[in-house]
This record gives sequence, C-alpha cells and structure tokens, in this order.
Amino acid sequence: MRTIAVMNQKGGVGKTTTSVNLSSALAAMGKKVLLIDLDPQAHASLHLGLTFEKEFPSVYDVLVCNQSLDSVRRQVSDNLWLVPAHLDLASADFELASVVGRELILRDKIAADTMEFDYIVVDCPPSLGVLTLNALAAVEEVFIPLQPHFLALHGLSKLLQTIDLVSRRLNPQLYVSGVVLCMFERTTLSTDVRADVEAFFSEHEGRPKSWSSVKVFETNIRKNVRLAEAPSYGQSILEYDPKSNGAEDYLAFAEEVARM
Ligand code: ATP
Ligand code: MG
Repeated sequence: MRTIAVMNQKGGVGKTTTSVNLSSALAAMGKKVLLIDLDPQAHASLHLGLTFEKEFPSVYDVLVCNQSLDSVRRQVSDNLWLVPAHLDLASADFELASVVGRELILRDKIAADTMEFDYIVVDCPPSLGVLTLNALAAVEEVFIPLQPHFLALHGLSKLLQTIDLVSRRLNPQLYVSGVVLCMFERTTLSTDVRADVEAFFSEHEGRPKSWSSVKVFETNIRKNVRLAEAPSYGQSILEYDPKSNGAEDYLAFAEEVARM
C-alpha cells in the first residue's frame, strides 16, 4: 500500500484538485483507492458530490470522537472510497489541544482499519496545524503541488523543515517523493519556474534524508478551466469531461505515480 499526503501550506495551489483527480485516475486504472479529506473546507468531499444539507459522519468523528474509519467511509465510485470532511473539522485543533498523542490519531486509525487499499491519498488543509501533522504522521510520501509563478519556492523551506521535523520525531518513514506543477501555462514564466524547482531539488549536498530524493514529476498539470468547473458538478474531471486536457494530464500523472 502507498500512502500519500498532498500538502502545501500555501492556499490555492492545486492540492484538492490533485488529490481528487489523482485518486479518481488511479481508481480508473483499477487501483483500490481511499481518499481522506482532512480539510475543514471539505472541498474534496464537495468535489466528489457530497452536499451539506444533512449532517453526516466525517473525519471529525474519527479524530475527535474515536470512531473507526469504516464507520464514516463511503464508496463514491468504482474502486474509490472517501472519508469525508465536514465544516465542524475546523474546531479539531482546539478540541484536540489537550489530548496526548493528538498527532498520531489518524496513523492509529489507519493501522486499525479493516479494509486494504492500494493507495491512501490525504488532502491536507493550507496550514501546518494538528490536521496536517496527523497526515504527516500517518503517511510515507508527501506530494507537494506548486503553482508556477514567481513566489512558487517562497514558503517551501518552512514546509520542508516541518516535514523534516516530523520525520525525525514522529515518523521516520516520511519523505517528500514528488513535486507536481499545477496550473501550468505555456509561458516562459512557467518554464523558468519549473527549471528553478528542478535546480532547487537537484542540490543534494547537506539535505535532510526526508527530502533528498524529490522527483519533479514530468507531467505538468496544465491550466484548464474544465478542472475548475468539475467541482461544482460534484464530479472528478474523468466523469465531468474525460476528453479535456485536465483529464489527460491527471491520467498521465497517475500513470507516472504508479510507475514510481
Ligand atoms: P486550498 O489551499 O484552499 O485547499 P488547494 O491547494 O486545494 O486550495 P485547489 O482547490 O485544488 O487548491 O485549486 C484552487 C483553485 O484553482 C480551484 O478553484 C480549482 O478549481 C482551480 N484549479 C486547480 N487546478 C487547476 C488547473 N490545472 N487549471 C485550472 N484551474 C485549476
Ligand atoms: Mg484544498
């Protein structure tokens, strides 16, 4: 089983779009996938068709109320299961503040889970709080989506420091396995930023183990309006517009991920 957290504390870089569509593409390839929505904004859950008219069991119940993953999990399409988030997850940070071992709850719930998957993908919120720490303690791999504009690398050192700290203190298996460029455009800027990112990660000297072998994925996810439209229909890009560039890119990306 591969376990992947899609993470960047910067907002709006493509974490959710990547988590949802990578999961759907892997599922379409016949892999059994569990997507865990760990963001109080619940965008991944909305993207896969959930609506908030009614209360429903969510990852909040797993983290705060000691429920099992199985009791909140739902199958959303062939080979794809979702542990949804709900807006009430926003108070988890506060509610878990005095709980000993609060960073390790998700790890323990995954270890105790009765279902086997080929992939577990965790969509992280844009912060470095207790939710993100739960993701980092529970997975082996981190994928970092980056948007290719001129501040792309800004904030990355903080992110890498956090990952390194977690790998030393909580989860020795943890490492950054890949960086994916999202909203890629046919501009010199996009190409230049990609070159900068590749140069940054090709310097291995003195780098901590947790990010000394980062692959910048060959597949760039192009900017494609269909990717931005799909969530409002509650569909992955493969369902919403299988012929779009977005669908093509996420399928190519999933194949690259599966080959790693
Ligand atoms: P947050 O930090 O708020 O969780 P995020 O990192 O999860 O954000 P997304 O929600 O995936 O980012 O993307 C931000 C916005 O950009 C969304 O409206 C999304 O539909 C859009 N978007 C993402 N990727 C693409 C793309 N390749 N082409 C066009 N629009 C995109
Ligand atoms: Mg998101």
